[in-house]
Amino acid sequence: MKMPKNLQRYCPYCKKHTDHTVSVNKKKNPSSLTYGSKVRARRRGRARGKGNMGRYSKPAISQFKMTGKKTSKKTDLRFQCKECKKTHIQGPGFRARKIEFK
Ligand SMILES: [Zn+2]
Repeated sequence: MKMPKNLQRYCPYCKKHTDHTVSVNKKKNPSSLTYGSKVRARRRGRARGKGNMGRYSKPAISQFKMTGKKTSKKTDLRFQCKECKKTHIQGPGFRARKIEFK
């Protein structure tokens, strides 16, 4: 998906619409488990005295059929105000395979 490099956007610090530079936030500190799987494991563990409900005694995920990496990822855009130089994030992200800047 193509995105404009500069956008008119509302700046919550200047409290008006100003010019913004758009950039994609790069993924930081990789982990073997994704955030979602950590959250799910924690929720499973909430069932008192039942452990993780079989999560770690299942066969490897590569032996499951309906799994795989999604081809698109949700965007994590950062908008930097050109007037106050402060950065703010987008609202809910949208799915896109690739983000390009015009
Ligand atoms: Zn601003």
